[in-house]
Amino acid sequence: LWEKTLEQLEQTLTPQHFATWITPIKFAGVEEDKVLLEVPNRFVLDWLRDHYVSIIQEIFSKLASNPYRVVIKVSTTPPKKSVDKPVSSPAPPSPTPAAAQPPVRTANNGFNLNSKYTFEEFVLGSSNQFACAAAMAVANNPATTYNPLFIYGGVGLGKTHLVTAIGNAILKNNPEMKVCYYTSEKFMNELINSLRYAKMDEFRNKFRSMDVLLIDDVQFIAGKERTQEEFFHTFNALYDSHKQIVVTSDKFPKEIPGLEERLRSRFEWGLIADIQAPDMETKHAILKMKAEANGIGLPEEVAYFLANSISSNVRELEGYLVRIGAYASLTATPVTLEMAQEVLKDILIEKKRELSVEEIQKRVAHHYGIKVADIKSSKRMKALVLPRQIAMYLSRQLTSFSYPEIGDRFGGKDHSTIIHAIKKIEKNMEEDFQLRTVINSLKKELTV
Ligand code: ADP
Ligand code: MG
Repeated sequence: LWEKTLEQLEQTLTPQHFATWITPIKFAGVEEDKVLLEVPNRFVLDWLRDHYVSIIQEIFSKLASNPYRVVIKVSTTPPKKSVDKPVSSPAPPSPTPAAAQPPVRTANNGFNLNSKYTFEEFVLGSSNQFACAAAMAVANNPATTYNPLFIYGGVGLGKTHLVTAIGNAILKNNPEMKVCYYTSEKFMNELINSLRYAKMDEFRNKFRSMDVLLIDDVQFIAGKERTQEEFFHTFNALYDSHKQIVVTSDKFPKEIPGLEERLRSRFEWGLIADIQAPDMETKHAILKMKAEANGIGLPEEVAYFLANSISSNVRELEGYLVRIGAYASLTATPVTLEMAQEVLKDILIEKKRELSVEEIQKRVAHHYGIKVADIKSSKRMKALVLPRQIAMYLSRQLTSFSYPEIGDRFGGKDHSTIIHAIKKIEKNMEEDFQLRTVINSLKKELTV
């Protein structure tokens, strides 16, 4: 079937596209309704995802007279990682239970660790300096400096990179240590499987035998009672035997809704470090480094264009870079500013269309008959404080800006001020019908 799919693709695509993007694909078999494909690098993977996955899917499904999904991965990554099943998949009880399997060993005693995320590859900037310094301290002296280390920050700002770098550095210095990386979701999935197959002893022993436990995106276990309970015990066992724990989250412990009090307080025992959105210089430096790593010739003006004009989400920025690099390699032309602008045109338009904090401030000011300047000010008059807090609340709800970014747009306020305002509004909305009505109608006006 794959052969036939290739034939059809060859007829559909130009020879150059076919040779550049389809030929490198390695067919790795079919599993249930999934067509498994492997590609040599991330570059090709991103391009395929953006451009060809749906065509391949369509052709293959038609040939098989059954719907198939295409799953692509980079062939160098350990096979286990990308085939993790989401928790919702109704896994039928199989004779060989998947419970409490040993995690993938990547190197020496590293479990599930992605070796490409290291401190060497991490660009320092004022936005991540504190978190990075804390991470390095922990890496140099596990379990003796900050325990637990809690790193929080917005999406795509480098949490996974940093927490993984800790693990890799520890392993490099102490090859005998057992270092384990888990997303909290994977922790939960394994827990569920272990419960189902009565393998809880194995599950517990596995985690409790680690010297370093790295738990990424802990916010996912909020509201999951059984998982929090088990994680609580794992945490205690490791902590009591002086093992290092590092936890990441997209929010400050206090801000994670549904997180049990006892876990929250434990997260606050050690050090809490935040990663903020990178400034222009840091973005520029990251782009330069990633371009070099991917073999993309990136002229200064294009690097500045990217650093300036879009997103503070590093993952997104990387995506744009990869796209530009792919285009350059496909058309065999060097990267230029005009080309970058052309390639990213649609994205830039999309971003522009996104509601700005300024628009929200204007709307709210107008509604209350006050000046925008007063909304951005720090004046404490009651007639200004409420509209200001509402504008902050709406900015968080209706845009993708982070707390610090919103703070910047309110005359340079601290992110804790923004968080405080939002909580206040949320709480008042619960009790105050009129406030709720006002906010809802503002929301409607702003989103038409
Ligand atoms: P998060 O886990 O916070 O969502 P990630 O750690 O997955 O973010 O980072 C997203 C991407 O951005 C990764 O490819 C990572 O290597 C890169 N990245 C983020 N911050 C930096 C940095 N300071 N230096 C180099 N790369 C970075
Ligand atoms: Mg992450």
